[in-house]
Amino acid sequence: MTGEYSTAPGAGRAVPDAGAAVARQGRSDVRYPVCGGRGTDVGEQAPLGAVDVARHIRPGVEKAMTMQVAEESGRHAQAVAHVQSPMPARVRAAGLADIAEKLDTGVRLEMADGLQLFACPDLLALGWLANREREKRHAGRTYFNHNIRIEATNVCVASCLFCAFARLQPGDDGAYTLSLDQVWDKLRARADQPLTEVHVVNGLHPELPFDYYLDLLRGFKRIRPDVHLKCFTAVEIAFFADLYQRTDEQVLRELMAAGLDSLPGGGAEVFAERVRRKICHDKCGADRYLDIHRTAHRLGMRTNVTMLYGHIETLEERVDHMLRARALQDETAGFQAFIPLAFHPDNNQMRKLPAPTAAETLRVHAVARLMLDNIPHIKAFWIATGVETAQTALWFGVDDLDGTVQEEQIYHMAGASTPAALTTGDISRLIRVAGRDPIERDTLYNVVTQH
Ligand code: SF4
Repeated sequence: MTGEYSTAPGAGRAVPDAGAAVARQGRSDVRYPVCGGRGTDVGEQAPLGAVDVARHIRPGVEKAMTMQVAEESGRHAQAVAHVQSPMPARVRAAGLADIAEKLDTGVRLEMADGLQLFACPDLLALGWLANREREKRHAGRTYFNHNIRIEATNVCVASCLFCAFARLQPGDDGAYTLSLDQVWDKLRARADQPLTEVHVVNGLHPELPFDYYLDLLRGFKRIRPDVHLKCFTAVEIAFFADLYQRTDEQVLRELMAAGLDSLPGGGAEVFAERVRRKICHDKCGADRYLDIHRTAHRLGMRTNVTMLYGHIETLEERVDHMLRARALQDETAGFQAFIPLAFHPDNNQMRKLPAPTAAETLRVHAVARLMLDNIPHIKAFWIATGVETAQTALWFGVDDLDGTVQEEQIYHMAGASTPAALTTGDISRLIRVAGRDPIERDTLYNVVTQH
């Protein structure tokens, strides 16, 4: 159980064309010089998000340019009229009045509504509606936590087409499995950090004993008894049950007795059978994923649910995914957050597909906020969306930016060039500059610090 461990942080880049920043995903390692921002020393390099970039455009120049273009083209004139319209009129013009009324009167959105939202050409009108729902629940509050992410092994018997992280067998090029001491050292090395959460996800290793995982949890709790352990996706729980000949519930109970506090939402991908058959045919199916979360909720744990978007799934399959998550939430109320995960195409078997654009990412998060009336939080996982897009999404239904993360390999091996870590100061600044109120939370959304 030993092996090499290496992180793959994005390399630093030169200052790019500011106007392209919002459209570009996964390029959030860009750093700009700033002077005297909150929590930033004069001259210190600090990350600049999409909202900062937008604010660099001089309003007078923007207006003059807009007027000139409007004279040249009826299409642009219409766009200018939209900008000048009060947003409810714009929502009406976008054909979303019926949906807005349903939201006002507490009528649930269904499949046809979700498809209409995805088809709506006016992204700002959609975002406005999603933001309204976000503000009803959270006003400007925006959550993040101080966490560390650990992937103890990338050896995995499954063959998900989108995965660049997994290696089939121990000894394969790039395969690693950390010893328990190596894993625990990651926590010990951060003894000076006020971490509240350790987040662990792994490949499906066919040879490790169950005790490896039980001891891993016990060791974390010995080192930091107060830390919250959010570990093992439902896919891993199903794998453990099959490999170690237990029921899913027995696995959950044993892990909880060893210190497990909650489950992350990974492994959901897209629930539709057509998609799963093509991209992840040999791991736990949608029904079992949902049933494991159902069981975890019944046992008293809170969990999250994800959706991998931007590959071969149809819009109908996206909405169906959201509706299935919503249906389970009606039963259990155990999900805390819905987390759309952007597909990354590098170094995997789906590399011919383009990555989702920033506009698609904003749309998915906004539709999720509108469809999932019973899941409290919509989270933008900045590692996957890019920092700028995650920051912009705070006006498109998102109220949570995950956390400091610190070490991440799954997305970076698939081409993400986001930083490997953000500090709590970085995240707090990104939120504040976006005009939102940063709140450091623990895993269960108790307030740790109001930044
Ligand atoms: S996504 Fe998870 S289960 Fe699928 S191959 Fe990668 S590590 Fe294995």
